[in-house]
Amino acid sequence: MTNQDFFQFDNQTKIIATYGPACESEDVFANMIKNGVDVFRFNFSHGDYDFHQRGFQKVKDFNKEHGTHIAILADLQGPKIRVGEVENGSFILEMNKEYAVTNIKQVSSAEKIYVSYDRLGEDVKVGEEILIDDGKLKVVVTSLIDLNNIRVKVLEGGELKSKKGVNFPNTSTSIPAMTAKDREDFEFAVKHRANWIALSFVRKAEDVIAVKSMIGKEDGLYRKVIAKIEKPEAVENIDEIIDVADGIMVARGDLAIEIPLEKVPLIQKEIVRKCNLKGRPVIVATQMMESMTDKSFPTRAEISDVANAVLDGADALMLSGETSVGLYPVKVIETMSKIISQIEHNSDIYHVEGYLGDINNDDYVPDAVCFSSVSLAESLNAKAIIGITRSGYTGFRVSSFRPKSKIFIFSDNKPLLYTMNLIWGVKGFYYEGLEGTDRTIEDLIDILKKHNRIASKDIVINTASMPFGSGAKTNTVKVTLVT
Ligand code: PEP
Repeated sequence: MTNQDFFQFDNQTKIIATYGPACESEDVFANMIKNGVDVFRFNFSHGDYDFHQRGFQKVKDFNKEHGTHIAILADLQGPKIRVGEVENGSFILEMNKEYAVTNIKQVSSAEKIYVSYDRLGEDVKVGEEILIDDGKLKVVVTSLIDLNNIRVKVLEGGELKSKKGVNFPNTSTSIPAMTAKDREDFEFAVKHRANWIALSFVRKAEDVIAVKSMIGKEDGLYRKVIAKIEKPEAVENIDEIIDVADGIMVARGDLAIEIPLEKVPLIQKEIVRKCNLKGRPVIVATQMMESMTDKSFPTRAEISDVANAVLDGADALMLSGETSVGLYPVKVIETMSKIISQIEHNSDIYHVEGYLGDINNDDYVPDAVCFSSVSLAESLNAKAIIGITRSGYTGFRVSSFRPKSKIFIFSDNKPLLYTMNLIWGVKGFYYEGLEGTDRTIEDLIDILKKHNRIASKDIVINTASMPFGSGAKTNTVKVTLVT
């Protein structure tokens, strides 16, 4: 059995489910995959290493048993700022009242509120706003006392609870992109073979480059880095970030706190568009089916949100609490799969109109070859585009042109097959033959016939890098009529 044989749905847009206590039972876990999970996300903001290790192992055991390619995404918390423990669990922040805020560790109370921001007094300025608990509470800085202490006035009051997140949307923060915890989590993720590593609160391209340099060249062939876009600086620097990241996540939760929330929909569309153009996988995340955390049916608005993200051109849609702690982890996947399927079969999300490559770009030739395979598939109404890759480039690039034909990617780089499971439309197969072009193409066609993916009289398009094994980039397109 392969990955695809297991699924009930044959969607192109992928689903990422956040792993949590709600997914632990064997039955639930298998049914989530059967209904469409392609990637499990491990959120390092929650859970300990024992918990994550058991989850990673569950994915690997499942893949081994079923021949699937479910990927593991390790989501690093990044420099998330929080209030600490609050005396008696919570207290009320009163409207218009002034409070003292410090970064000297202590239990918070109405006398002094602790926030985990080392450079508090250096970075913030009078007049800047600070949001707490996903923006439910809002304060404004009224005075700077010293490097560790400031005073704030409450603009939106309410209950302040322990450990809630704190956002500084107006402040140019100087916190390093990776905390000591992120480094430890990164080591854990690498040791336990995560395919994707997502970095939270990225501000600039250098933040991503720093993580990528920790991965190393060889592992970089299959272990990829996602930049989570949730800060205004990241939106400003989006082109440079897309250039260096292997993938992008529109992390709408924090993004809608850090920038005016009404700007999020257009930013989502613009980021997805830019990623599609550059062949960069892009994930739309957060609150896609939030109401299904405790209800068995989504809201009408959520149905439209999922549909619109598919129409925008997202590679993958992500679920958070809905699957990690929700009451309906299987039902939410099934519902999302049905919406995706409906949109994919009844709308024109496939676009092959044109491709203007840049001759100065190193990948000009392979990009043009990948595009040609897609446009040829379109004019011949081909059933499939079949690629062979060791780097994954063909998979990423062919997918980015969103062909109507299925995309089957063969590789002898096994971890890469898991990694590519996040990419729109890509179905991976392990193959290590590579004995001459004609023989290999015949082999791949036979494999796909055996899996009922193609049948005789179908037209398929093969891409390859010739000569095989030379390290050349994709340079060949062949049309085959399946016999
Ligand atoms: C988000 O903010 O939308 C997000 C995905 O990040 P996290 O869930 O890690 O806060």
